Amino acid sequence: RLFNLVQELRGNIRVFCRCRPPSKKELASGDESSEVCVTFPAEGEVTMRTDKGKEKKWEFDQVFGSDSTQEQVYKEVSPLVTSVLDGFNVCIFAYGQTGTGKTFTMMGPAESRGVNTRALYELFEMSDKRRKTIEDKITVSVLEVYNEQIKDLLADDVGERKYTVREGPHGNYVPDLTMVNVDSLDEVIELLGLADQNRSTAKTNMNEHSSRSHLILSCYIVSTNKHSGEVSRGKLHLIDLAGSERVGKSGASGQALKEAQNINKSLSALGDVIAARGANSGHIPFRNSTLTQLLQDSLSNQSKTLMFVCISPVMYNSEEGFCSLNFAERAR
Ligand code: ADP
Ligand code: MG
Repeated sequence: RLFNLVQELRGNIRVFCRCRPPSKKELASGDESSEVCVTFPAEGEVTMRTDKGKEKKWEFDQVFGSDSTQEQVYKEVSPLVTSVLDGFNVCIFAYGQTGTGKTFTMMGPAESRGVNTRALYELFEMSDKRRKTIEDKITVSVLEVYNEQIKDLLADDVGERKYTVREGPHGNYVPDLTMVNVDSLDEVIELLGLADQNRSTAKTNMNEHSSRSHLILSCYIVSTNKHSGEVSRGKLHLIDLAGSERVGKSGASGQALKEAQNINKSLSALGDVIAARGANSGHIPFRNSTLTQLLQDSLSNQSKTLMFVCISPVMYNSEEGFCSLNFAERAR
């Protein structure tokens, strides 16, 4: 029994690896640095080599090669998403160097939507199917964590206020965070558009900014059984993390250095939390970053966590790729 219990808890952390296709530019380059350096020897396996002759194989719960579709990826995520309707707290992260497909995987372009909108779509659909017996109230929030500060991307006064994480009866929460009641995917897509606008105002380079901040779309579901009156609560956090590349190890100063240190702090805090859970350590260090504090009750042993580690297939990214894959391996 104990073994089963341990297996079950252990089974609540999953790591999926996804490799983006080489870009047109990389394909056309013919340069050695743009050579594909990733292989998929068997299901759940990925290898990478560097130009310095290093080579390693990693195993993950799933490995998606360059030709994987958004649909194939979502199919493997779906059971986790729907468990939110049974009262589970779920976190789905995209981790990796900038340019490896985190935003593609989570958000995706309009013609090829990613995990975020597919998840919400499925939740609405399932909720609709069970509405005779269970009434689900679905609300969402969208926030950004930048330099350890929380920014409410759905607020009227974006960027004006300081937010802090508090402990509440249903887990940690952010007082005054805008929560919007939603009934359809269209409403969610509209909110994501608003969040995107709010995120980029005052920033000249959106790409650069988004690679240095974490974006969290959260979906809260309160389900009431119409017969018994029983209430259950589930949360789904969909997180597009800041780029994991080690920015300007030397030479960075001022704002760039501060950003790099904060990203480092939150990503390593996240890695520590997941590793502590995987090892069934009694102490889980949630307090070391805003991100882990914010997600505390959705990162505990009773919650389900999925980490996408996103990688590039080409040689010039392989040193960072090694770091990302090793990070993910430790999480598992
Ligand atoms: P990140 O968010 O990690 O910085 P992006 O999601 O912006 O990376 O992806 C970088 C580029 O690669 C984008 O042009 C994106 O469209 C493309 N891309 C990433 N993943 C895939 C994929 N699986 N299939 C096709 N194109 C992809
Ligand atoms: Mg991105």
